[in-house]
Amino acid sequence: MHYYERKARNRWAVIRVYLYTLALTLIPMAAALIGKSLAVEAPPPKAAPAAPAEIKTVEPPAERPPAPVSLGSFTITHYCPCELCCGVWADGYTSTGTKATEGRTIAVDPAVIPYGSRVVIAYEDGTKERYTAEDCGGAIRGNHIDVYMNSHQAALAEGVKIAEVYIVEE
Ligand SMILES: [Zn+2]
Repeated sequence: MHYYERKARNRWAVIRVYLYTLALTLIPMAAALIGKSLAVEAPPPKAAPAAPAEIKTVEPPAERPPAPVSLGSFTITHYCPCELCCGVWADGYTSTGTKATEGRTIAVDPAVIPYGSRVVIAYEDGTKERYTAEDCGGAIRGNHIDVYMNSHQAALAEGVKIAEVYIVEE
Protein backbone atom coordinates (compact mmCIF):
# COMPACT_ATOMS: atom_id res chain seq x y z
CA MET A 1 0.00 0.00 0.00
CA HIS A 2 1.17 3.33 -0.91
CA TYR A 3 2.09 5.50 1.98
CA TYR A 4 -0.43 8.19 1.06
CA GLU A 5 -3.14 5.61 0.64
CA ARG A 6 -2.57 4.27 4.09
CA LYS A 7 -2.56 7.72 5.58
CA ALA A 8 -5.88 8.48 3.86
CA ARG A 9 -7.37 5.28 5.20
CA ASN A 10 -6.27 6.17 8.75
CA ARG A 11 -7.78 9.55 8.39
CA TRP A 12 -11.04 7.98 7.25
CA ALA A 13 -10.95 5.73 10.30
CA VAL A 14 -10.54 8.75 12.54
CA ILE A 15 -13.48 10.47 10.87
CA ARG A 16 -15.64 7.38 11.26
CA VAL A 17 -14.90 7.19 14.97
CA TYR A 18 -15.63 10.84 15.28
CA LEU A 19 -18.97 10.50 13.43
CA TYR A 20 -19.86 7.44 15.49
CA THR A 21 -19.19 9.34 18.72
CA LEU A 22 -21.14 12.28 17.45
CA ALA A 23 -24.05 10.03 16.58
CA LEU A 24 -24.01 8.45 20.01
CA THR A 25 -24.17 11.90 21.54
CA LEU A 26 -26.68 13.49 19.22
CA ILE A 27 -29.23 10.71 18.90
CA PRO A 28 -30.11 10.56 22.61
CA MET A 29 -30.27 14.36 22.70
CA ALA A 30 -32.55 14.44 19.70
CA ALA A 31 -34.68 11.71 21.19
CA ALA A 32 -34.89 13.62 24.43
CA LEU A 33 -35.94 16.75 22.60
CA ILE A 34 -38.55 14.94 20.54
CA GLY A 35 -39.87 13.19 23.59
CA LYS A 36 -40.15 16.48 25.33
CA SER A 37 -42.07 18.08 22.53
CA LEU A 38 -44.39 15.10 22.26
CA ALA A 39 -45.03 14.89 25.92
CA VAL A 40 -48.63 15.72 26.61
CA GLU A 41 -48.73 18.58 28.93
CA ALA A 42 -50.71 17.78 31.95
CA PRO A 43 -53.79 20.01 32.14
CA PRO A 44 -53.37 22.75 34.66
CA PRO A 45 -55.00 21.93 37.89
CA LYS A 46 -58.52 23.19 37.97
CA ALA A 47 -59.03 26.08 40.26
CA ALA A 48 -61.12 25.16 43.18
CA PRO A 49 -64.64 26.46 42.62
CA ALA A 50 -64.97 29.85 44.23
CA ALA A 51 -67.06 29.90 47.30
CA PRO A 52 -70.49 31.29 46.38
CA ALA A 53 -70.57 35.03 46.93
CA GLU A 54 -72.47 35.99 49.95
CA ILE A 55 -75.94 37.00 48.87
CA LYS A 56 -76.68 40.41 50.21
CA THR A 57 -80.27 41.35 50.63
CA VAL A 58 -80.86 44.76 49.15
CA GLU A 59 -83.35 46.86 50.95
CA PRO A 60 -86.03 48.06 48.52
CA PRO A 61 -86.01 51.83 48.18
CA ALA A 62 -88.54 53.56 50.30
CA GLU A 63 -91.82 54.23 48.56
CA ARG A 64 -91.54 57.68 47.17
CA PRO A 65 -93.69 59.47 44.60
CA PRO A 66 -91.89 59.83 41.27
CA ALA A 67 -90.06 63.08 40.82
CA PRO A 68 -91.88 65.69 38.75
CA VAL A 69 -90.67 65.86 35.18
CA SER A 70 -89.69 69.36 34.12
CA LEU A 71 -90.80 70.36 30.67
CA GLY A 72 -88.75 73.53 30.82
CA SER A 73 -89.69 77.15 30.60
CA PHE A 74 -93.17 78.09 29.39
CA THR A 75 -95.02 81.22 28.51
CA ILE A 76 -98.10 81.50 30.71
CA THR A 77 -101.11 83.45 29.52
CA HIS A 78 -104.71 83.54 30.76
CA TYR A 79 -108.10 83.27 29.15
CA CYS A 80 -111.76 83.17 30.03
CA PRO A 81 -114.77 81.63 28.28
CA CYS A 82 -115.73 84.84 26.53
CA GLU A 83 -115.88 85.25 22.76
CA LEU A 84 -112.81 87.45 22.79
CA CYS A 85 -110.80 84.66 24.30
CA CYS A 86 -112.48 81.64 22.73
CA GLY A 87 -114.31 82.84 19.64
CA VAL A 88 -116.80 80.26 18.44
CA TRP A 89 -115.65 77.91 21.19
CA ALA A 90 -116.96 80.24 23.91
CA ASP A 91 -119.32 77.74 25.49
CA GLY A 92 -117.59 77.18 28.81
CA TYR A 93 -116.54 73.67 27.94
CA THR A 94 -113.07 72.49 27.19
CA SER A 95 -111.92 70.56 24.15
CA THR A 96 -111.92 67.40 26.26
CA GLY A 97 -115.55 67.95 27.22
CA THR A 98 -115.07 69.06 30.79
CA LYS A 99 -116.58 72.24 32.16
CA ALA A 100 -113.84 74.83 32.23
CA THR A 101 -113.01 75.44 35.87
CA GLU A 102 -110.86 78.16 37.33
CA GLY A 103 -108.03 76.72 39.39
CA ARG A 104 -108.07 73.45 37.45
CA THR A 105 -108.35 74.02 33.72
CA ILE A 106 -105.44 74.95 31.51
CA ALA A 107 -105.18 74.95 27.75
CA VAL A 108 -102.08 73.31 26.33
CA ASP A 109 -100.52 72.12 23.12
CA PRO A 110 -101.46 68.47 23.49
CA ALA A 111 -98.40 67.53 21.47
CA VAL A 112 -96.31 68.96 24.32
CA ILE A 113 -98.53 68.18 27.31
CA PRO A 114 -100.94 65.29 26.83
CA TYR A 115 -104.55 65.84 27.85
CA GLY A 116 -105.23 64.75 31.38
CA SER A 117 -101.71 65.53 32.58
CA ARG A 118 -101.37 66.93 36.06
CA VAL A 119 -99.31 70.04 35.61
CA VAL A 120 -97.47 72.19 38.12
CA ILE A 121 -96.63 75.72 37.07
CA ALA A 122 -93.73 77.04 39.15
CA TYR A 123 -93.49 80.79 38.87
CA GLU A 124 -90.30 82.73 39.32
CA ASP A 125 -91.59 84.21 42.60
CA GLY A 126 -91.78 80.71 44.07
CA THR A 127 -95.52 80.19 43.87
CA LYS A 128 -96.70 76.91 42.44
CA GLU A 129 -100.08 76.18 40.95
CA ARG A 130 -101.52 72.83 40.09
CA TYR A 131 -103.72 72.30 37.04
CA THR A 132 -105.06 69.68 34.69
CA ALA A 133 -104.39 69.83 30.97
CA GLU A 134 -107.88 69.64 29.49
CA ASP A 135 -108.22 72.35 26.88
CA CYS A 136 -106.40 73.57 23.82
CA GLY A 137 -106.44 76.66 21.66
CA GLY A 138 -105.39 77.74 18.23
CA ALA A 139 -102.78 80.07 19.66
CA ILE A 140 -101.46 77.58 22.20
CA ARG A 141 -98.45 75.96 20.56
CA GLY A 142 -95.30 74.51 22.02
CA ASN A 143 -94.16 75.75 25.41
CA HIS A 144 -97.24 77.86 26.04
CA ILE A 145 -99.96 77.34 28.60
CA ASP A 146 -103.20 79.30 28.75
CA VAL A 147 -104.63 79.30 32.26
CA TYR A 148 -108.40 79.39 32.47
CA MET A 149 -110.08 82.11 34.58
CA ASN A 150 -113.75 82.96 34.98
CA SER A 151 -113.29 86.71 34.46
CA HIS A 152 -111.93 88.31 31.33
CA GLN A 153 -110.67 91.27 33.35
CA ALA A 154 -108.88 88.99 35.76
CA ALA A 155 -107.34 87.09 32.87
CA LEU A 156 -106.10 90.30 31.31
CA ALA A 157 -104.75 91.51 34.63
CA GLU A 158 -102.56 88.42 34.98
CA GLY A 159 -100.60 89.39 31.90
CA VAL A 160 -97.93 87.18 30.44
CA LYS A 161 -95.61 85.26 32.70
CA ILE A 162 -92.71 82.90 32.35
CA ALA A 163 -92.68 79.80 34.52
CA GLU A 164 -91.15 76.36 34.74
CA VAL A 165 -93.66 73.64 34.05
CA TYR A 166 -93.67 70.13 35.45
CA ILE A 167 -95.76 67.09 34.79
CA VAL A 168 -96.46 65.21 38.01
CA GLU A 169 -97.61 61.63 38.34
CA GLU A 170 -100.51 60.90 40.60
ZN1 LIG B 1 -112.05 86.33 27.92
